[in-house]
Amino acid sequence: MADDCIFCKLANGEIPTDVVYEDDLICSFKDAAPQAPVHVLIVPKKHVGSLDECTAEDHALLGHMLLKASEIAGKLGLENGYRVVINTGEDGGQTVHHLHIHLLGKRYMEWPPG
Ligand code: 5GP
Ligand code: ZN
Repeated sequence: MADDCIFCKLANGEIPTDVVYEDDLICSFKDAAPQAPVHVLIVPKKHVGSLDECTAEDHALLGHMLLKASEIAGKLGLENGYRVVINTGEDGGQTVHHLHIHLLGKRYMEWPPG
């Protein structure tokens, strides 16, 4: 846990939020500013700053997060598909410096944009 990290507090239940899934390793909750009709975040309970700060130790955690993304998508009715995004670093548009997966669905988003 990092003391000043909002996602540490949300993922560990120190600040109540709209949780859609939780286990020993991760917590998934609704994004506060949704970019699609379904927009949840999948967040590890331990503090990791970003994908770039993951090490070999996080191998299983990263696999777990992706497999759970698929399971949570099913639970949220996204059987027609969805997108997972991990914004990383300044050029990746990361604004919260605690690793998280965005799970977005129910709206077609052109890719690549434009
Ligand atoms: P990033 O830009 O770092 O990839 O994504 C951060 C995401 O966290 C944004 O989509 C933002 O709306 C969301 N967010 C930021 N603060 C909070 C919060 O306090 N609660 C929740 N539920 N989402 C947050
Ligand atoms: Zn944190």
